[in-house]
Amino acid sequence: MKKYSFLFLFLILLNSCFSIKFSNYEEVILINPYKDVNWDKVKRYKANLHTHTKESDGKEPIEKVIFLYKSRGYSILSITDHNKFTYPSDNKEIFLIKGIEFGKNQHHILGYFSFKVPENIENLNEDEILKLISEDGFAVFSHPGRYNKSIDWYINFFEKYPNLLGIEVLNPSVQKKKSYGDTDIWDEILSKTMPERQVWGFGNDDFHNITHLSINWNEFLIDKINEEEIKKAIKGGKFYICSAILGFDMPYIKKIIIDGKKGEIKIEAENYKKIRWISNGKLIEEGEKIKYKKNPDIKNYIRVEIIGEQGFIYLNPFAVIRSSAFHCPPRRWAK
Ligand SMILES: [Zn+2]
Repeated sequence: MKKYSFLFLFLILLNSCFSIKFSNYEEVILINPYKDVNWDKVKRYKANLHTHTKESDGKEPIEKVIFLYKSRGYSILSITDHNKFTYPSDNKEIFLIKGIEFGKNQHHILGYFSFKVPENIENLNEDEILKLISEDGFAVFSHPGRYNKSIDWYINFFEKYPNLLGIEVLNPSVQKKKSYGDTDIWDEILSKTMPERQVWGFGNDDFHNITHLSINWNEFLIDKINEEEIKKAIKGGKFYICSAILGFDMPYIKKIIIDGKKGEIKIEAENYKKIRWISNGKLIEEGEKIKYKKNPDIKNYIRVEIIGEQGFIYLNPFAVIRSSAFHCPPRRWAK
């Protein structure tokens, strides 16, 4: 009996040694918005999701706007006239997402797929505007860099509305200002909401006239174009944003490879000058790879910028979750 007691004691000691040894070890889990993309087969569809026509303050009629985007290789378009739903009488040219841009003096908000058209927009606040978008519709804050809202102001709405999916990170009206723009606001929001709440970045022309055509776009990674596939991609962040504000010679992403064993993300791309890795608003690495388990500068999320000679791509963010599964006692019991 005594022999077994010693063995039992030995096993307890051995177990506590392992607990001590691993007590500083944190498992790092990555949530990858591109996880079900088959990079060898997937199709990439260009989409502009912020477009005005003559029906509000744009310069061109809807048929011409559709023609212009089709001729630039776009497959998906959302016409988002101000506080008004505009739709062509007949369209077989391009996949149209039902859209609107809400707001006058309020923060502008883009609504997609399913919403009520406001009758008295002047009297509504942003909270009431977001309620006009149905649960199976989506909302995106337009050009946040034009306003002086606090980061917590945005976060409050992201916590309240699950179908509020992101902010416009690329919009020509804000890109001209260099000091503090939409990308800075995106990083500040992500630093506070991630990893629990993803906030996607959208890139649009905010088309009013032909000088805005094809500056920024969203590239959807889907197998075929239909409402279901597009909704799934928008909701899950399965797209990235592109800007060709300097020209048309864009970088090309061949593949994103995540190796969980090595703890590494690798971007295989062509025609780029550099790849920048950003976490909580700081540039933490440059190059095609990052070790996401070992880099102490990685905080709540990682996002990637692929910079080319004439244009650039921003990926949607990867959430970084740290689990303390090997802690002794486990963190959930330690409270
Ligand atoms: Zn607009």
